[in-house]
Amino acid sequence: MTTSFHPPQRTLMGPGPSDVSPRVLAAMARPTIGHLDPEFIRMMDELKGMLKSLFKTDNELTLPVSAPGSAGMEACFVNLVEPGDKVIVCQNGVFGGRMKENVERFGGECILLQDDWGKPVDPEKVKAAFAEHDDVKVLAFVHAETSTGVRSDARTLCQIAKENGALTIVDAVTSLGGIEVDVDGWGIDAIYSGTQKCLSCPPGISPVSFSPRAVEAVKNRKTPVPSWFLDKNLVMGYWGGGGKRAYHHTAPVNSLYALHEALVMVEEEGLENAWARHQKLHLALRAGLEAMGIGFLVDEESRLPQLNSVMIPEGVDDAQVRTALLQNYNLEIGAGLGDLAGKVWRIGLMGSACTQRNVMLCLDALENTLSAMQAPINTGVAAQAAAAVLAE
Ligand SMILES: *Cc1c(COP(=O)(O)O)cnc(C)c1O
Repeated sequence: MTTSFHPPQRTLMGPGPSDVSPRVLAAMARPTIGHLDPEFIRMMDELKGMLKSLFKTDNELTLPVSAPGSAGMEACFVNLVEPGDKVIVCQNGVFGGRMKENVERFGGECILLQDDWGKPVDPEKVKAAFAEHDDVKVLAFVHAETSTGVRSDARTLCQIAKENGALTIVDAVTSLGGIEVDVDGWGIDAIYSGTQKCLSCPPGISPVSFSPRAVEAVKNRKTPVPSWFLDKNLVMGYWGGGGKRAYHHTAPVNSLYALHEALVMVEEEGLENAWARHQKLHLALRAGLEAMGIGFLVDEESRLPQLNSVMIPEGVDDAQVRTALLQNYNLEIGAGLGDLAGKVWRIGLMGSACTQRNVMLCLDALENTLSAMQAPINTGVAAQAAAAVLAE
């Protein structure tokens, strides 16, 4: 007979999911109630309010899509891109490539701008593309490229889109909760995120927000939104204001309890304090790794604190190290993707996993594992270097 599944207790320092706090897991185990129950609707209103603060927006159309980040991405593109629409997509890693896929599947004309993996989106290329092409409807880019650990300058890119009368679609799956995101301040029109990165919730929900301009664009479509499930006009019947809630789909009740609890925790800490924690612990991790002789892929000014792509030392077998970390330390770190496979590790410091204890655990586990393999690293110095940063 099949028996219950009991997962091991891991420490998740990869590209997501990140460690989920026991408080969030406990919230998820509370009794399931009806998704039209007045108490549930009260919880939904609180959730929506907290999402608006998190995104720094007054957008009425702010809600959690009942599916993972990829569905939030698709929700933005399927609502805003119609056949023939021109969309500039900036690609500097895996997720920009998925944006291109989305544009093409919905019949849009994709103008693809590429930057090297490990570099931020180049605003000059975006300006040049707008100068070259008329009637661009949307500029789409990834704020925090999880495949490389790069932060692009969302404020500047949105400014360029605005000057050219285009809407913006921004991927904030890995940025939200870890670094500054300012939807209204930067003039973002459509944004999507995920719960399992810096919000430290179980995967499966995607917070999204649409500006009034984006809502207008959806209303003025010539063709119906080709996805029934992700059509924002329909979802608003359930998530919209005004107290009237109509059945659209059965909300993932317990997953939304988890998101509510995670956002309560963000409010308790303070959003700015959460950003500062990610930055500080990134600096501590960096100091330890650099003392060991391990360098970073990304230039300092565009590094994400929550996703550290670090160079694998010469002659070291990538998979062997990751397997040893998992088996001996219950520690998960991420592998490189695409051309970076075998060349970098991706060490996440996201949400609840972004702690002093985890930084020290990771440095210690890497040092022990690498030195046992006779890898060319400096030993006995990493912990002290990290501790010095933490003491600042
Ligand atoms: C993880 C991630 C996604 C996809 O989210 P899923 O929840 O895995 O569907 C999209 N964009 C970025 C930048 C991500 O890091």
